[in-house]
Amino acid sequence: MAIERTLIIVKPDAVNRGLAGKIISRFEEKGLKIVGLKMAWLTKDVLAEHYAHLKGKPFFPGLVEFMSSSPVVLGVLEGRNAVEVVRLMCGVTDANKAAAGTIRGDFSMSTSCNVIHASDSLDTANKEIARFFRPDELFNYDLNSLKYLYAPDELGR
Ligand code: UDP
Ligand code: MG
Repeated sequence: MAIERTLIIVKPDAVNRGLAGKIISRFEEKGLKIVGLKMAWLTKDVLAEHYAHLKGKPFFPGLVEFMSSSPVVLGVLEGRNAVEVVRLMCGVTDANKAAAGTIRGDFSMSTSCNVIHASDSLDTANKEIARFFRPDELFNYDLNSLKYLYAPDELGR
């Protein structure tokens, strides 16, 4: 299992319900590293590209309408087997059927307003990251918890 990067979108329902911080916290607590994070108001054009595989589905126009109804929070998460881990943490699409303990299972009752998007494969993740993030918006750094729990002069006392 390699170190992977995956894309998440905290959807308009979660942003407007004040759940963005809570949802991002879950990934941090799990041990995933945030390597990109920003707010954006997605256009219908970029959403039509992002959801191109669903064009023709009866819910497609409503989905684009919903996803462009307010700003969203976009993130890139890095970790071992990150694509699968993040999908498991999100739960299945229909939040009514998503297991308790998953993000959708805990925060939503809906198949449409299901609080989070996550890339479904490594190939999709690479495409989605490139769609929403410029290279200079992604950061390589070592997660070093100790360094940020204490000031340098407090260490070693
Ligand atoms: N969606 C919907 N109605 C459906 C199925 C999906 O509104 O019957 C929306 C929902 O917001 C979902 C998104 O379309 O998250 C993308 O669908 P997909 O099948 O890719 O589910 P996901 O990968 O998000 O679990
Ligand atoms: Mg999907």
